[in-house]
Amino acid sequence: MNSATNAVPKPLTFALLRLLADGEFHSGEEMAVQLEMSRASVHNALQDVAQFGVMLHSVRGRGYRLSHPLCWLDKEIILAEVGATLNIEILDYATSSNALLLQAASRGAFSGSVLAVEWQSAGRGRLGRTWHAGLGDALTFSVLWRFECGLAALSGLSLAVGVAMMRALRELGVQDAGLKWPNDVMLPSGKLAGILLEAQGDMLGPSAVVIGIGLNLAAPADAARIGQAAGDLSACGIALDQRNKVLSILLKHLESMLREFAVRGFTALRKEWESAHIYDHRPVEMLMPDGKRIEGIALGVTDEGALRVETADGLREFHSGEVSLRGR
Ligand code: ATP
Repeated sequence: MNSATNAVPKPLTFALLRLLADGEFHSGEEMAVQLEMSRASVHNALQDVAQFGVMLHSVRGRGYRLSHPLCWLDKEIILAEVGATLNIEILDYATSSNALLLQAASRGAFSGSVLAVEWQSAGRGRLGRTWHAGLGDALTFSVLWRFECGLAALSGLSLAVGVAMMRALRELGVQDAGLKWPNDVMLPSGKLAGILLEAQGDMLGPSAVVIGIGLNLAAPADAARIGQAAGDLSACGIALDQRNKVLSILLKHLESMLREFAVRGFTALRKEWESAHIYDHRPVEMLMPDGKRIEGIALGVTDEGALRVETADGLREFHSGEVSLRGR
């Protein structure tokens, strides 16, 4: 896995990775014939696959084999589960699904447009951070939703996305997931998914929001670069070949939450969010943009999604902007 690289996949690399997806040996000659290219081109196109987070073994006389099979996203399977109300596009490669969908939004893309990307070179997190994901090990996708209301009314939306994720995880049988304010999805082993909302529009409306989600299906290959513990669904008994099912269920719950949110706002979801918060009534530390740390006890959230913390100076509300929450 290698996000935030300058790598641009060679055009034939993904075609070869599709041939190799079964995890069996394929000779260079056989693949060259199938893709009507030379053996040297096969060799060249497979040189840099490690940058996508896949491990390729090459054995003289047998050919190439991936360290484990890859399960590709399949639009038909996803549409069969979620229905045709979402407009789903799947790309092999993008810098960032959020960046691309934001561009599409400004060109008038429909509400309900979904862009899922097999591999991102520069997956985005909050505050300019990076989301790392290897090919086939994760889901990285974005959903565009348009609202009649303005940006001001959308303040709780990033927390509401967490509620939708929790509903989806419960449907998948994952019992021990929780939320960390404002919008991380956590397992006891570490961060399972990150959510990044990027919005366009006016304070008074209408507005368009791109919701980006990165979720680990398997332990990220370059965990050392992540800087915090990562959790993944394979440890919850959900195999990598369930990628399409997991994405379908997430999209189904995101869509129904977004419809609910448009009518009732975050207020209707607040209690559900609070019951999933891993630091509810626990000692926490708020990391402020100026480097200050404020200690207190987390006490739920407001209807706008601000975190309420009982501090030595009394009850304070923190808006997600530039603040980070840590447990103590
Ligand atoms: P905050 O508490 O402020 O939300 P955060 O560090 O979790 O902080 P995000 O912007 O939500 O920030 O997510 C980006 C961060 O997530 C990265 O800085 C990195 O620490 C972590 N991260 C990146 N890739 C992964 C991954 N595949 N699995 C788990 N965590 C990851």
